[in-house]
Amino acid sequence: MDLDDVLEEIRAEVAPSVGTGVVADYIPGLACVDPQQFGMAVAMNTGEVHVTGDADTCFSVQSISKVFSLGLVMTHDSNRIWERISREPSGNPFNSLLQLDQEWGKPRNPFINAGALVVTDRLHSTTGDARSAMRELVRRESGNPMVDGDPRIAQSEHDTGHRIAAMAHLLASYDNLECPVEEVLEQYFWQCSLAMSCRELALAGGWLSRHGVRADGTRMLSLQQTKRINAVMLTCGTYDAAGEFAYRVGLPGKSGVGGGILAVIPDRCTICVWSPALGPSGNSTAGVAALDLFTTRTGWSIF
Ligand code: GLN
Repeated sequence: MDLDDVLEEIRAEVAPSVGTGVVADYIPGLACVDPQQFGMAVAMNTGEVHVTGDADTCFSVQSISKVFSLGLVMTHDSNRIWERISREPSGNPFNSLLQLDQEWGKPRNPFINAGALVVTDRLHSTTGDARSAMRELVRRESGNPMVDGDPRIAQSEHDTGHRIAAMAHLLASYDNLECPVEEVLEQYFWQCSLAMSCRELALAGGWLSRHGVRADGTRMLSLQQTKRINAVMLTCGTYDAAGEFAYRVGLPGKSGVGGGILAVIPDRCTICVWSPALGPSGNSTAGVAALDLFTTRTGWSIF
């Protein structure tokens, strides 16, 4: 099987669904992105990278950053983060406040916004600077020392982020934040604003398919911790569409409203697909279709 051919076929096949759905429009920096873009990169554990389409165009990683913050917090804090966050699918939109209040300020999982705020808070309190810790991780693993947040996106997240600010205050009211609300929000807005390409993200997520081993061969997380992150990605990484995503794609995956999805085939490769138009749960429509085709064509599966 020639992976480059497979990717080209997938690109041709998903072309009709590229642009289907809506581009996130809650901030201008996302609303103005051309929905007709599509890119995909497959970073093999052997080191090769296969790409198609707009795989080298940078986009806003948004919630894909939640996998990196969770991985990092577990390196610094072992498994203690799980005292403050559950590991159940929420069945609710990623920015819902209702469940958080009903469940006494303990977020359902680390991949909805409430859970990610707790992870970022913990990372900030253990490292003293969550931003530098995350920047270092994504730069080193992607191989691009220039990877950074986009200050324009971070600023507009801040200016319009009333719901996430409400969520952070609700967490604080339940005593589930250690750092000041404003600091946690600033870190969170920055991590969402990270600008990376499919190629960079696929490479940066390689530790997820290498059982916790970094690109340079050193260990970041134990085999067990990495297994657990992948499991939570499978059950919660695509919000209230996680069941549908597991059914169609059958892989751990984490989406972001910038239109990217990072998916993992343990022991084999990490895949990143990007197309900005989103379905109703905030996952890229063409991205899910492409991953569905990819696992079907290659037969590569965790099942
Ligand atoms: N910045 C977005 C938010 O906080 C990230 C959500 C996402 O990508 N699903 O709402």
